[in-house]
Amino acid sequence: MIAARQSGSRSCPEPPTRVGVVRSVEDHLQSVLRGVVPLDPIDVGLLDAQGCVLAEDVTAPWPLPSFDNSAMDGYAVRTADVEGASGEQPVTLRVVDDVPAGFRSTATLREGAAIRIMTGAPIPEGTEGIVPVEDTDGGMPEVRIDAPAAPGAHIRREGEDVARGDVVATAGTVLGPRQIALLAAVGRARALVHPRPRVVVMSTGSELVEIGGALRPGLIADSNGPSIAAAAVEAGAVAYRVGPVKDDAPTVLAALEDQLVRADLIVTTGGVSAGAYDTVKAVLSRMGSVEFGKVAMQPGMPQGHGTLGPDATPIFTLPGNPVSAYVSFEVFVRPVIRRMLGHSEVYRPVVRAVCTENLRSPKDKRQFARGLLTIEDGRYLVRPAGGQGSHMLGALAATNALIVVPEPVTEVKAGEPVAVLRLDEP
Ligand code: AMP
Ligand code: MG
Repeated sequence: MIAARQSGSRSCPEPPTRVGVVRSVEDHLQSVLRGVVPLDPIDVGLLDAQGCVLAEDVTAPWPLPSFDNSAMDGYAVRTADVEGASGEQPVTLRVVDDVPAGFRSTATLREGAAIRIMTGAPIPEGTEGIVPVEDTDGGMPEVRIDAPAAPGAHIRREGEDVARGDVVATAGTVLGPRQIALLAAVGRARALVHPRPRVVVMSTGSELVEIGGALRPGLIADSNGPSIAAAAVEAGAVAYRVGPVKDDAPTVLAALEDQLVRADLIVTTGGVSAGAYDTVKAVLSRMGSVEFGKVAMQPGMPQGHGTLGPDATPIFTLPGNPVSAYVSFEVFVRPVIRRMLGHSEVYRPVVRAVCTENLRSPKDKRQFARGLLTIEDGRYLVRPAGGQGSHMLGALAATNALIVVPEPVTEVKAGEPVAVLRLDEP
């Protein structure tokens, strides 16, 4: 994760560091992950399992292939009948049956005969090999064969892929198209998986207007709502958005209470700094179950985390600046979502890259500088975004990575190696 220093690593080898009264990134991360466990498994249709983590071992009730079948469209033959056959010296055989896929021939193949057969059709009794149709004239009721067949040629054997009783997928497997293909092939229409957490995303700020709404002077479009909801979906969650909520204590409280029933996790943005109208902090710090503090990072200093309501629903209160909100989500919220999903690997991959430009970093803070990671001549290069301000969405959108500058480092020189968190890889 963010602290990893090794190329390709995801581990988190650094001991927690305390930076004054401010919490370190490591401390905060450990604290938000504490006690988070995968959501209780549910039984879902196979297509709904895409991207989910399997919560059971799946055993094959039958072998794969489940019967000997042809790997080619062609003719089932006895090898001796076509020995030495060639374009110059073809062999002619009687075609005694024709088996499409989905049918079984009742004929037994005897000397001097062939059976036309399609890919996937069961191998008829007495067959020793298949001659592909390309090596024949495709004839009926006689076929001219231009090539020999080795014993077993183009026959797919029962169980050669998966044996009956094999465990084809273990609990913890991430289900994608390839694993879903296998589950379907062994007859599983449903699977037990950890469900996707339902994440409610709520933007707060009296200056915010729902996307597409008319803007008066002083108002801005809510970009955090869509951004954090998209990030939650990308992390594997189901996201519900609540339109922008005004900086007014009763309104914020009521909006949060409304959402508790459908949330496994709540993420708010805005209202957690030291401003006069920082309502989220004002309202929730009174309740005692949400802790507000500063984390030694840039961007994203003010962070709040805790639980709400009778089910102790976890809540993150992220800062309002759009880049701070997004980076905070990546660093703290995403690993929590991934753990709820049952992933054993909850962090983004970290690679080492050469920084192509000088980069300054605040002392005693871990900086997550936005950058564009590329590969040149097999080496990772990362170019810091031109604008590093925590309001700069234009600059953010042109990047695909976070350059992680450790707390003690205040300057990275062009050409020096840096740890880079890849945002385009799960
Ligand atoms: P706050 O954390 O509420 O003090 O907000 C810090 C800055 O982020 C202010 O400039 C806000 O206007 C801006 N901001 C807060 N919430 C959002 C949002 N949902 N979308 C875009 N900008 C926001
Ligand atoms: Mg605000």
